[in-house]
Order: sequence, then structure tokens, then C-alpha cells
Amino acid sequence: MAFETIHGIVIKYSDYKESDRILSVLTVEQGFITLTARGCRKKSSQLAAACEICTYSEFVIYSRCGILNVSTASVLESFYPIREDYNKFESAEQVLHMTRILTCLTHSWDDAFKLCYHTLSYIAYTDNNPIDLELCFAVKFLKLAGYEPKLVNCVLCGKDLRREKELRFSKAMGGAMCNYCGTGSRVVAPLTLEAVRRMLNLPLTDMGKVRLPEHTRKELETIIYEYAEYNLEQTVKIREL
Ligand SMILES: [Zn+2]
Repeated sequence: MAFETIHGIVIKYSDYKESDRILSVLTVEQGFITLTARGCRKKSSQLAAACEICTYSEFVIYSRCGILNVSTASVLESFYPIREDYNKFESAEQVLHMTRILTCLTHSWDDAFKLCYHTLSYIAYTDNNPIDLELCFAVKFLKLAGYEPKLVNCVLCGKDLRREKELRFSKAMGGAMCNYCGTGSRVVAPLTLEAVRRMLNLPLTDMGKVRLPEHTRKELETIIYEYAEYNLEQTVKIREL
């Protein structure tokens, strides 16, 4: 039997039989894969900690009858503070959900892995509002998925919007609009669009700089998830707004 060592983040799991678990893991080596961890829910199991959701683990795996099984596993990063803080946990769950969607939409799992890993690290180990980090993830997620909203010029007339004070945002038209073209669409503050523009280009190592004013956070949360759900045609937001 050939064994292989892989490294990945547990994105989701479902319990199976008495003590088994089916894991959905985003790996560095093979992208998104499904693993069966036999007996990992037994109290004595050495696999238990490494098979928890939102854990970055090393897995030694083998294939039998076309199913990938975990032989041994160890925790590389548990993002432990996420488990102790409900707000951090909620945002991390949202990030994992979007990561799962992203792996279905793109083959560049390398970028998806890096984005997910960095975001979870910042949620765990900084005092940033976890929703700000989650929103930064969501903006970058749209870019990687190929649905980056247009924000500099009006999507209809092409007018440069960077000095405009009255702006609109249309999920159906693919981005920002001037007040004239966007009549009937959602009103959006210039600062909110500026925040999205900056997040799109922000290096992952600078995510700790994302600190949004309350009004911007609320507005961005509404427009970004509305936009994502409309364009991806699926549920993106799992937490109540
Ligand atoms: Zn216009």
C-alpha cells in the first residue's frame, strides 16, 4: 500500500458510522479532496484533533478501493483563538464556506489555500474585527472566482467615479454606477467603494490593516454578499445579516 503525506485545512466534515468522519480538506498538494478518517471520533483516537474543522493538519493517507483514507495525522495549526471566541468562529465559518465555493469555481487552489490560511490566521491572532477580515476575504474571493465588481468607472456611462459624492451599486450590472445611471439601484457611500478598491489590491500580509468604520462595515456586508449571491447564483452568506 502506498502512503502519501499531504497538508491541508479541514473545511467541512460529516460524521459517519459510529466513530468515523468524512473530511473535506483543501490541501496544498492536491487541492480539494475528501478523506475518510476511521475511528477519529473515539476518545482515544490520535487523529481526533487533526480532524477538527478549521484545523491545518498533516495527513498521511492511502488509497483503498478508490477511497482516500487517513492513516495518521497531526495538527500543524489549530487557529486556537477562533474556538474560544464566538465572533471569530462565525467569521471563520463564513470564510470556510466561501473557500468551499471557490474551490468549485477555480482550479487555482493554491491562491484559494493562501487566502484561506492567511485570513484564518488574522482572525485567530489579531484584534481586528473578524467581520472586517471576513469581508476582505469575500472581496478577494470574488476576484479569484472571476467576479470582481467594477468600481472605478460607472458600468453604464464610463464616468470616473472616484470624485463623485453620490454613488450607486448594482449587483445586476456588475458594480458601481453614477447617480444618474443608477437610479433605482442601491445607494452606496464613496468610502465603502474605496474600501473595496483597497481590499482588492491589498497584499495578504497586510490584512491586519483592514479596520472599517461601523457604517462602512454594515454597508459593505450588505452589498458584497448581495452581489456575490446574485452573480454566483447560490447561498454565499451563511450567517444572518
Ligand atoms: Zn453613469
